[in-house]
Amino acid sequence: MELYELLGRLFVVILGFLIVILVTSLIFTYIMFKKRKILFPRFVLFILDTLHTPSMKLVSFFNGNEEMVDLVSIEIRNILFRDSFARIPYKDRVAIFPQCLRSLGCPARLSNIKGIECVGCGKCVLNKFREKCDKLGYKGFYIVPGGGFVKRIVRDIKPMAALGVACEWELNEAMLYLSQRIPVQGVPLSKAGCINTEVDVDRVLEALSMKENHRIT
Ligand code: SF4
Repeated sequence: MELYELLGRLFVVILGFLIVILVTSLIFTYIMFKKRKILFPRFVLFILDTLHTPSMKLVSFFNGNEEMVDLVSIEIRNILFRDSFARIPYKDRVAIFPQCLRSLGCPARLSNIKGIECVGCGKCVLNKFREKCDKLGYKGFYIVPGGGFVKRIVRDIKPMAALGVACEWELNEAMLYLSQRIPVQGVPLSKAGCINTEVDVDRVLEALSMKENHRIT
């Protein structure tokens, strides 16, 4: 057998293997998404992280819901990091929110270092989260205009855990970055977009309060 033929066969075998792995993990992802059942979380998360774009393309090819890939990844990370996040004292945690949750009439200014500096006008839900973080003694409460701020917060503030809220795509990406450094939890927006977005307030408040022996079930 010639070398090129051998390489060709090897390529086909590897490609076939990858397709089987990808399809299998997407079947598990679909079951998790529909039935809220967690199956082989580490395996599925590894494949979805490694083959994120092919996963999205394959789901889209079958007219599936592309959000499923990010939402399932977020849920798996929430489960895997729940205990370690809950063990970190509030004073070492930060909470990071997207600016799209703000009211259109928000009077807050943007600081290059701190993000949007909420003045507590009460026009949007972020005021409630800010008050909760203050009450619990969080190390930081941030409203950010983009993912770049998340990296800056980690680099400059050095939190030991982080809770994030964002649209599923940005949240999944941020959680992937954060989880390689510190324990994370994430709550995806219930209504995404550029403005007037929404989030499950109770879920965020519960996640902020999470601590050992008092975890979300
Ligand atoms: S509560 Fe804060 S973030 Fe919300 S509109 Fe007022 S100043 Fe802006």
